[in-house]
Amino acid sequence: MAALKRLVDRLAAERGLPDADMLALLACGDGDVLSHLFARARAAREAVYGRDVYIRGLIEFTNFCKNDCLYCGIRRSNARACRYRLAEEEILLCAEAGYRMGFRTVVLQGGEDPYFTDERLCRIVRALKAARPDRAVTLSVGERSRESYQKLFDAGADRYLLRHETATKAHYGRLHPPELSFERRMRCLADLKAIGYQVGCGFMVGSPWQTLADIARDLAFIRRFEPEMVGIGPFIPHRDTPLGAFPSGTVDMTCKLLAIIRLLLPNALLPATTALATLDPRGCEKGMLAGANVVMPNLSPPDAREKYALYEGKASAAGETADALSDLKKRMENIGYRVTIARGDHRILPTGKQR
Ligand code: SAM
Repeated sequence: MAALKRLVDRLAAERGLPDADMLALLACGDGDVLSHLFARARAAREAVYGRDVYIRGLIEFTNFCKNDCLYCGIRRSNARACRYRLAEEEILLCAEAGYRMGFRTVVLQGGEDPYFTDERLCRIVRALKAARPDRAVTLSVGERSRESYQKLFDAGADRYLLRHETATKAHYGRLHPPELSFERRMRCLADLKAIGYQVGCGFMVGSPWQTLADIARDLAFIRRFEPEMVGIGPFIPHRDTPLGAFPSGTVDMTCKLLAIIRLLLPNALLPATTALATLDPRGCEKGMLAGANVVMPNLSPPDAREKYALYEGKASAAGETADALSDLKKRMENIGYRVTIARGDHRILPTGKQR
């Protein structure tokens, strides 16, 4: 095991590992090695961000989706999904309630809903910025044209989350219908970066057919792409999807990957995701102790939250009401961290394009 601990040290020092070594680390389940990995990841995170935990207010504003991703509960073929979309005023009200609670970032996430044209989305982004100029606006609304991304950026959007889902083209093909393409997903990510967004990519841990070699490719992609944010969470099956009978990903593998990603990209903003909290009531704490530094409590109205069912048993990440937020603060304090209301931008400005 000493050899594997040395690999962890090498990963921390060199921000990467040769493929064979990365695979050996991915396969390792030894408690001592993992404790060492988590300790190095926490040290790396604390060197950049201290003990601050950033909060992002998530608004799931539509579950209409024109796509048919095989794993996702809001895929267009799921006739049992109860569809909703929030009105513009509702979105602004949720964001304002969040602002008053201390949220300086709002994340608008939704299915790919054609109702939200560039014009409508730009209007919402502009209204959010006009109401609270110090608030960061993050979008997570899937694949759009470069022109569309540019318009949204010009309207004031600061950040964009678009998980790459898997860096292995054949695996991408198994998780998605033929009309969705790996190349287009990657091109969208490149466009977002070129425009100047702070960009987040990421993938599901334990998605059907995922191998350790696939994960190693995901990590190599993340290292190359150098996103400002990385969103990973366990795959959780949804019974009304074609992949509903596959097992969930695990909390342990997710935490291991959070730690590895922290060492690959010490400056990354890494959320402990809702999917992690869904599988384990202490998922959020475990994610933090593995190197995460962001939590994304849900600010959507309660009935919307229920209907935005990507997978089964979705938890509410604590923090969506004033009481729940103070509970989250206590939980973070109990593990030595501190929820801050700072906007929590990425700490390095690589291109000079960031706001
Ligand atoms: N439509 C946008 C997009 O494609 O990026 C944003 C919404 S999409 C539902 C957000 C993310 O949810 C996806 O990138 C995917 O990784 C995750 N997701 C979907 N189904 C999931 C499942 N069954 N288990 C875990 N995560 C899932």
